Amino acid sequence: MAVTPPDHSINELIISNIQIKCLMIHKNSIFVDENFKLPDLPEMELGDLFVTEVDGVRYITREVAEDHQLAGFNLTNLRNIVTKWSTTEFERASRAFQLLLWKRNHRFCSHCGEKTIQHTNEYAMVCPACKYTQYPRLQPCVIVAITRHDEGNQPSILLARSPRFTIPMFSLIAGFVEVGETLEQAVAREVKEEVGIDIKNIRYMSSQPWPFPSNLMIGFQAEYAGGELVLQEDEISEAGFYPFDQLPLLPPKGSIANRMIEQIVG
Ligand SMILES: [Zn+2]
Repeated sequence: MAVTPPDHSINELIISNIQIKCLMIHKNSIFVDENFKLPDLPEMELGDLFVTEVDGVRYITREVAEDHQLAGFNLTNLRNIVTKWSTTEFERASRAFQLLLWKRNHRFCSHCGEKTIQHTNEYAMVCPACKYTQYPRLQPCVIVAITRHDEGNQPSILLARSPRFTIPMFSLIAGFVEVGETLEQAVAREVKEEVGIDIKNIRYMSSQPWPFPSNLMIGFQAEYAGGELVLQEDEISEAGFYPFDQLPLLPPKGSIANRMIEQIVG
C-alpha cells in the first residue's frame, strides 16, 4: 500500500522558528476556543503525529484524555464544527482524526499480537517481532446524485431518508465499496439494493475525506434508467424524486451530499 511520507519526522522533538498548532483530540472531539480556533503549542512531544505544514505553521495532532484541561479551550464534537470551518480546515482535522484513530486501533500487531511501535518518519505502526507494518486504511464509500426528467422535461433528483437520521433530512444514496468492485459497479449495486431502480451514465463528480470514522466519500452523478422505487427498509425509510424547486430539508453545508445537490440543482 502506498503511503505519502510526511515532509518531517513525525517524532521530531526540537522545533525552531516555526509556529505549531495542535489538533488535540479525544475520540470524536477536538479542543477549540470560542471562535473554533486551535491551540498553539511551544513544541512537539514524542508520539505526536505530523498532519501538515502550511505558510510556516506546522499542524500536529495529539490524543488526550477526556478530562484534559486547556485554559480557554473546550472539547467540541467534530460534527458540530463541520459547518463552522472552511473546507481546508475541516479536511485538515479529518486527516488528524483518522491518523489518531489508526494509531489507536493498531497498538498491537494484527499478525502476531505483539505491541507495535510508531515508525519515526512515516505513517506506519511496526511490529518489532515479525516486522508486519500497519498503515492507515481508508474505507471507500460511493455517493450518487440521480436525476430524472418527467414528461414535461422537468428535472427531479432522488433523495432518501435513512431511519438513522435524527432530523427530518433527505440525502443521496451512499454505501461502501465491496472487495473486487469498481466504483461504478458499487454505485449501481447500492442504488439497486437500497431503492430498486436502474441507473445509467454514471460519472464522477467530486470526493471528500469524511472522518466518521475513516471514509473517503467518492461522489457520482447518474441518470434514472428504469424500474419502480422499492425501498430496502432497514436502510431507507422514505425516498422519492423531488423537483429541483421543491426540495426537502437537505444535509448540512460542509458535507459532500450538500455540495453535490447544490451543484446539480443550481
Ligand atoms: Zn507481529
